Amino acid sequence: MKRTPLSQAPLDAAARRAVKPVICYPVDTLPLVDMAAYAAARETMERTATLIVPPRDAMAFRVPAGFFFRIVSMDGPQVGDLNLWAADDLSERFYSGKTRALHGTHLSTGDRMWSGFPYLRPMATITHDTLDWYGFDADGGSVHDVIGTRCDPYTNRLLSGQDYHYCCHSNLTRALAAETGLPLHRAEAHVHDVLNVFMCTGFTGDTHQYFMKASPVRPGDFIECFAEIDLLGALSTCPGGDCSDEHSSDTAACYPLRVEIYRPDPETLAGWTPPEPSAYSGSHGA
Ligand SMILES: [Zn+2]
Repeated sequence: MKRTPLSQAPLDAAARRAVKPVICYPVDTLPLVDMAAYAAARETMERTATLIVPPRDAMAFRVPAGFFFRIVSMDGPQVGDLNLWAADDLSERFYSGKTRALHGTHLSTGDRMWSGFPYLRPMATITHDTLDWYGFDADGGSVHDVIGTRCDPYTNRLLSGQDYHYCCHSNLTRALAAETGLPLHRAEAHVHDVLNVFMCTGFTGDTHQYFMKASPVRPGDFIECFAEIDLLGALSTCPGGDCSDEHSSDTAACYPLRVEIYRPDPETLAGWTPPEPSAYSGSHGA
């Protein structure tokens, strides 16, 4: 956080601040997203599986490459914390930081969820978002962020001195352990920064601190993704509920979330192939 400065501003401070910003990663150099092809595929899709994640818990699910999955609000406003791995290799996992660098602080239709190094390929493409009308509000807030991490028992202990076991980090750890058979401590090492589904967040105008406000999600709203590779996912129903107040206790009203898996007609995907991992040689100049 920037506090009262202790250092004298240089004489040319105003000129240095007035330099024009440059977009770090212009989107026009990213591989093209063929939204028309996804639209044709989703016209034909049929639901093959449904999963209900109970409040303050998490569940794992698998999505074959070429299928779609939806995260659907039911019963009441609820935030979800989403992790993604390559189904056959937990070392390839969602990289929220690079996804943020490429697509901005909050994701919506047409954006992709990228995997970390050395893979750096789209794991999933967002194909529908019923909250895309929200945009950015007067506080600078928006939904589906990649700026938060996930609520966790360590930060909670640090800030409150209390132990709480149903933070998203712990929920995702239990779900991954149950799905893979890994012991808890080994599963925990694979849990990573999330896509904060339905969460409404931003940075305050004065101190630029991370803030949250009540999610605008309502029952029936959903975010939908196309699986670019075979995926193992885990979704936690955050103990913060709609995240209007706090998120590491049993006080907030919490609701389940539904995960739906859809299979499109494969013929509509004739022109699509799963993306290859990064072609970078990996020599790092050595
Ligand atoms: Zn959470």
